[in-house]
Amino acid sequence: MSTESAEKRSAGKRHHVVVIGSGFGGLFGTRHLRRADVDVTLISKTSTHLFQPLLYQVATGILSTGEIAPATRLVLRKQKNAQVLLGDVIDVDLANKKVTSRLLNRDTETTYDSLIVATGAQQSYFGNDHFATYAPGMKTIDDALELRARILGSFEQAELATTQEERDRLMTFIVVGAGPTGVELAGQIAELADRTLDGTFRTIDPRDARVILLEGAGSVLGPMGPKLGAKAAKRLEKMGVEIQLNAMVTDVDAHGVIVKDADGSTRRIEAVCKVWSAGVQASPLGKMIAERSDGTEVDRAGRVIVEPDLTVKGHPNVFVVGDLMSVPGVPGQAQGAIQGSTYAAKAIKAGLHGQAPEERKPFKYFNKGSMATISRFDAVCQIGKLEFSGFLAWLAWLALHLYYLVGYRSRIVTVIGWFVSFLGRNRGQMAATEQWIFARLAIEEVNADQAEARELAADVGAPPASAEPLTAQQRKIG
Ligand SMILES: Cc1cc2nc3c(=O)[nH]c(=O)nc-3n(C[C@H](O)[C@H](O)[C@H](O)COP(=O)(O)OP(=O)(O)OC[C@H]3O[C@@H](n4cnc5c(N)ncnc54)[C@H](O)[C@@H]3O)c2cc1C
Repeated sequence: MSTESAEKRSAGKRHHVVVIGSGFGGLFGTRHLRRADVDVTLISKTSTHLFQPLLYQVATGILSTGEIAPATRLVLRKQKNAQVLLGDVIDVDLANKKVTSRLLNRDTETTYDSLIVATGAQQSYFGNDHFATYAPGMKTIDDALELRARILGSFEQAELATTQEERDRLMTFIVVGAGPTGVELAGQIAELADRTLDGTFRTIDPRDARVILLEGAGSVLGPMGPKLGAKAAKRLEKMGVEIQLNAMVTDVDAHGVIVKDADGSTRRIEAVCKVWSAGVQASPLGKMIAERSDGTEVDRAGRVIVEPDLTVKGHPNVFVVGDLMSVPGVPGQAQGAIQGSTYAAKAIKAGLHGQAPEERKPFKYFNKGSMATISRFDAVCQIGKLEFSGFLAWLAWLALHLYYLVGYRSRIVTVIGWFVSFLGRNRGQMAATEQWIFARLAIEEVNADQAEARELAADVGAPPASAEPLTAQQRKIG
């Protein structure tokens, strides 16, 4: 265990804020504290600040990972009161105000005076986690690269297929979930097949690809209302995307999915490439913190039902923000995370100036609207009661995404990438490797082995896991 870093910082006696997570909540909260008389330690299990709304463009070859995921420590280089630590937070001790993070086999303890937890959410398979093996979600850089490799790899295999049946299976792409992510991804796979890949194969015609969007509910883009949902559906269908509503996916395997329709009947769709964008589950830290508080609970998705000042019961110095918090009327969107963490940072600053927690005004969310792109030059947009779609909505989408992209360089390179893809037919990021598809499965196997080894060690009373990595033989891969 290393407490050195935490001790050094607390020796300075400044108020110490620990921020967990480097997404919208973590980064914006940290930045808001840049001129405050505090030390900030941002701990995240990923080394970058990921702009999730553009992940689908990485998955479909428009953008590279660098554009949407700058290194957090580079972003915060000039913020002298902030330190960035890479590590997976595995324990939050509310009683002793201490966070334990793990990087490989090294555990580090960091003490805090105030804590902002912004660890977001993960893909939810509604209790069917085994679906993930064949239908990855889209939450991380790894997910997006894996998907790119799966999408492009399917076309490559189809070129070599020897039967029509095999070819059809390889050229059918299933997107599960018709929320903004599903809609954007389905639209982009269709455009990739119709425009970018057109004319690049000799035995297949990529324009024959079937893109199927499956939705368990009765409409596309449900939260955006029936009008915009219908517009998005019409546009997608014009692009050749098959939309199947009231279609619940009940099983997934390597070669297809089983779908249950509204009348209770089931059917199978053959498809090698599947993407899951149907639900979210809050980070497990939410449950841990709630259980250790004085009575705070989590909702069905594991989000923390926070107090009006975004803290947990009995701990007015512990804020839970972003996708991890459950606040009525606040959607799991970037704005919720940005506004929540800014509120928390302001409350911490006010506390330094003598404000008592009871004096805090409740958090108020300002809804700035939501939007989704369907294809190049076409989007749907909702701002308050105003709803619009088409080119104007697309321009609004473009401007907003550029505004929130972190870093001047990222913005320039992104605009170039968009020019190449939207005005021409090519896409600049079409690299894909076999490793991107299989690395996740291999890592999962290693982790399962390690967990098993730890359990075994505990059973026989052996000392805790050593700092030595597992040997190749222990990993049993290959
Ligand atoms: C594909 C996709 C498209 C989206 N599109 C839009 C959109 O168009 N508009 C919109 O407003 N919103 C969109 N969202 C939602 C938006 O991205 C989220 O609401 C927002 O990112 C939430 O911010 P957050 O800080 O709470 O969590 P995140 O941004 O998810 O960040 C969580 C951070 O916590 C870290 N972390 C997690 N667990 C641990 C741990 N145990 N220890 C240490 N660190 C940890 C992660 O590495 C990450 O850095 C989209 C989301 C996705 C996935």
